[in-house]
Amino acid sequence: MNSKLNWISETRKIALVLLAAWGMGWVVGHAFIAFAIASVALLAYSTLQLTRMHKWLSEAKDAPPESVGLWGDVFDRMYNLQRQHSEARSELQSTVNYLRDSFASIRDGAVMLNAAGAIEWSNHAAENLLGLVYPNDRGQDILNLVRAPEFHQYFLDADFNAPLHLETNGEPQRFLRFEITCFGDGDRLMFVRDVTKINRLEQTRKDFVGNVSHELRTPLTVITGYLGTLLGAQDTLDQKLVKPLQQMQQQAQRMESLLKDLLWLSRLENMEGASKAELVDISGLLVELRSDYQTSYSGRDIELELESDHKLFGDHRELYSAISNLLLNALKYSPDDRPVVISWKQEGGEYLLSVADQGLGIDATHLPRLTERFYRVDDSRSSATGGTGLGLAIVKHVAAGHGAQLRIESVLGVGSKFILAFPA
Ligand code: ADP
Repeated sequence: MNSKLNWISETRKIALVLLAAWGMGWVVGHAFIAFAIASVALLAYSTLQLTRMHKWLSEAKDAPPESVGLWGDVFDRMYNLQRQHSEARSELQSTVNYLRDSFASIRDGAVMLNAAGAIEWSNHAAENLLGLVYPNDRGQDILNLVRAPEFHQYFLDADFNAPLHLETNGEPQRFLRFEITCFGDGDRLMFVRDVTKINRLEQTRKDFVGNVSHELRTPLTVITGYLGTLLGAQDTLDQKLVKPLQQMQQQAQRMESLLKDLLWLSRLENMEGASKAELVDISGLLVELRSDYQTSYSGRDIELELESDHKLFGDHRELYSAISNLLLNALKYSPDDRPVVISWKQEGGEYLLSVADQGLGIDATHLPRLTERFYRVDDSRSSATGGTGLGLAIVKHVAAGHGAQLRIESVLGVGSKFILAFPA
């Protein structure tokens, strides 16, 4: 029955009762008293039903009290609403439990933090990695429990685009990787991963490359030394040997350049986290670089556009090597009659150092992999120019070590522009 009909029939019933009471009272000569008694009885009935409802609600019993008419309908509806509500609640609770169980079971430490940085929840792995005990530490400020200064800086800067790598002091010593994402109303979800093994492997790889390059240098120096001596006395040599010896010397020199670049790369990798305290005059560096290259590439037009005299905190040697790699590539991969333009300027919130050429250009498909070691657009291009395939890898590492980004803009057959963008 719908509520309107229910209301009409209930009003009709009350009216009938009151009318009947009035009628009976009139018969016995006390119409008003009978009417008043019937009204009080109706009021008492309603109060009784209200009391039953109150008792039912406060005792939170399952089934509602039996009743008829409008009151029965009210009881049934309230009962249905209550049931729907409790079903929705238990469904929600089981979703929350499921999510918590899945977070709790992951091997990474997971910590939920509110907008004020207080712990809302953390899993078992967070206890193992950070010593957070849930639920004891609930409500505690994360900065009071994770005390490493690097973490404080990272957390307070609130720039979570890149993860934080941290070396712990305790025993056993660990390398941790922190990743934070924001959600809801300023809440944060923090994941912590133990990267000790990966770090050690990476360090072993770096050491291996560095050591091999270093060890190979001495025998190579002996070989190039003897080749130099032999070719220095060409007249006394069997002429059939001259060409092979010259080729050997060429390849030995190539190997020397390779080892030099590999050693330099391995030094850059090891220095990447170190802070740069030297104030480098970029304009001065570019003038010096231009004059150095103008000597070896005398026929080439190397233009300088210096629109800023801003100095950077950095490493002069590293920056010189990165920019000279870019300049060398621009000279190698563009025709002799085209200029190469080096510029230094401020744009928006950045300082931009760019090296632009009007040369071969690079197809867009190669750009994402261009800074990988030994990646070449095509081998014939590089073998003709005698490159080591490590130049752009060096540039990338120098950029990372200086907090800069390497951007490459290139159009095949038109030219390329390599930009080092330093944050202001
Ligand atoms: P390489 O020693 O071979 O020059 P790099 O790491 O410096 O090694 O460069 C990687 C590859 O990127 C090069 O082999 C070349 O194909 C391409 N490249 C680099 N700079 C330029 C440029 N300015 N114009 C066209 N191609 C370039």
